[in-house]
Amino acid sequence: MATQKMLKFVSTPREMPEKRSAAERAEDFHEIYREFAAQKAAEQAGRCSQCGVPYCQSHCPLHNNIPDWLRLTAEGRLHEAYKVSQLTNTFPEICGRICPQDRLCEGNCVIEQSGHGTVTIGAIEKYITDTAWENGWIETARPEVERAESVGIIGAGPGGLAAADALRRRGFQVTIYDRYDRAGGLMTYGIPGFKLEKDVVMRRNKLLEDAGVEFVLNCNVGEDISFDAIRGKHDAVLIATGVYKTRDLDLDNADHGGVVRAIDYLTASNKVDFGDEVPDYEDSELNAKGKRVIVIGGGDTAMDCVRTAIRQGAQSVKCLYRRDRANMPGSQREVQNAEEEGVEFVWLSGPGSFVGHVTGDFAAAQEADVDGPVRTVSQIANVRIQKMRLGQPDVTGRQSPELIEGADYDEPADLVIKALGFEPEDLPQLWGVEGLEVTRWGTIKANFQTHQTSIPGVFAVGDIVRGASLVVWAIRDGREAAESIDGYLTGEARMAAE
Ligand SMILES: Cc1cc2nc3c(=O)[nH]c(=O)nc-3n(C[C@H](O)[C@H](O)[C@H](O)COP(=O)(O)OP(=O)(O)OC[C@H]3O[C@@H](n4cnc5c(N)ncnc54)[C@H](O)[C@@H]3O)c2cc1C
Ligand code: SF4
Repeated sequence: MATQKMLKFVSTPREMPEKRSAAERAEDFHEIYREFAAQKAAEQAGRCSQCGVPYCQSHCPLHNNIPDWLRLTAEGRLHEAYKVSQLTNTFPEICGRICPQDRLCEGNCVIEQSGHGTVTIGAIEKYITDTAWENGWIETARPEVERAESVGIIGAGPGGLAAADALRRRGFQVTIYDRYDRAGGLMTYGIPGFKLEKDVVMRRNKLLEDAGVEFVLNCNVGEDISFDAIRGKHDAVLIATGVYKTRDLDLDNADHGGVVRAIDYLTASNKVDFGDEVPDYEDSELNAKGKRVIVIGGGDTAMDCVRTAIRQGAQSVKCLYRRDRANMPGSQREVQNAEEEGVEFVWLSGPGSFVGHVTGDFAAAQEADVDGPVRTVSQIANVRIQKMRLGQPDVTGRQSPELIEGADYDEPADLVIKALGFEPEDLPQLWGVEGLEVTRWGTIKANFQTHQTSIPGVFAVGDIVRGASLVVWAIRDGREAAESIDGYLTGEARMAAE
């Protein structure tokens, strides 16, 4: 009987939840997909072929039991589907929204490979847990036994939060320190609301708080409290600080007014979305309204910037990327969304230099620099664009961009956003910690199974270990680290591969 509801991929075409029109979504920061109707979710879940060896599951970093919760959804047994889904994923509704499914679960769906179009795994995962929230099935974690040992977590992004959840369920006392005023890390202040609405993250933070996790916000470790002080307060420490140093451009005039970092631009926009007052946004430095905007980069951060600029009412938005569409790192789904919303992609192009014009604010500049040389304030006016062609593949097999001599031209711009990726901050130096080993890229060295660093009792997860990565990998690390920390503190659980 149950299987009659499955294997419908031949008769039922793939359908995503309805996408709002580009004109409508350019007006606000709400998510662009509407929710599945119950019947549609069941119908789409029923397309799963229930493979004996599910490749979707093995390519999901959390090894979610995807075929099981698809079958339960197809049978209308949503409460059970939710219970199965949350066993392996701390934030299923978040992953359902923002995982690059085409590279993970859905990209490895067998029916996709047979030409029928993948099961809409992400949209169904989101639907299951959104339904659980609506129906009050999501309960605060109440540990059966309280333990005396405490864990200090630095960083309230998905890595830190997933570890906090798992540790609290085991009864440990958990304190999370974060330099921002809200928890969630890049889920709160990096990723825009049109991909992940903010209340979806905030209700998760609240759930953890209700479970007894203590949040110490506005607390920059290394400035407001030392790393050693945190070590002294807790029996184990987890570092989950992410990567925030912006890769920069080594170009003339890269410090002109109006040339900004993607992280500052997106953080300001997200704060405005929360209703906060953001002076740099009000003063318009970080606001694209009415401006000719150029975003430099071809990754997901660049996609988030161009689409944010559209929503802020930019006059025009262009994205410069030095390779072509087929070779860009950003998701094709996001490029398509951006194009629908009016973004123009200028492929095989990069900035050669920035050309500014001097604004009249000499007095302010002099005042700010009383003893120094007299400076002028200059504002971006043009980006000199260099054209590229793709040359021979490099050692990684990727074709390298080569400059086409004499093809430069000037493109007028009022706001330039640098979205070239992120690197780790130098934590051992910033925190004055001897013995915390880092790799040659500056990421923290940690065992990939136990997440133990070079300092006993100190663990590390997420982007600060992997380099810029994904929410789902940070969640996986956080869950695994919780298990190791449990083992370290109690001597009972595994301490893998030591
Ligand atoms: C613009 C953008 C869009 C993205 N879009 C996606 C997407 O669509 N899908 C996806 O899967 N991934 C996406 N990512 C990547 C994803 O957000 C990260 O991989 C993930 O958030 C990493 O989690 P984390 O817990 O390691 O770190 P973070 O989320 O970066 O959290 C780290 C936290 O540590 C805090 N912190 C840092 N230093 C200190 C300190 N000294 N003291 C106190 N607190 C500190 C920070 O304030 C922050 O809250 C995106 C990233 C960016 C920048
Ligand atoms: S967590 Fe991400 S990769 Fe795993 S099933 Fe969900 S959407 Fe797919």
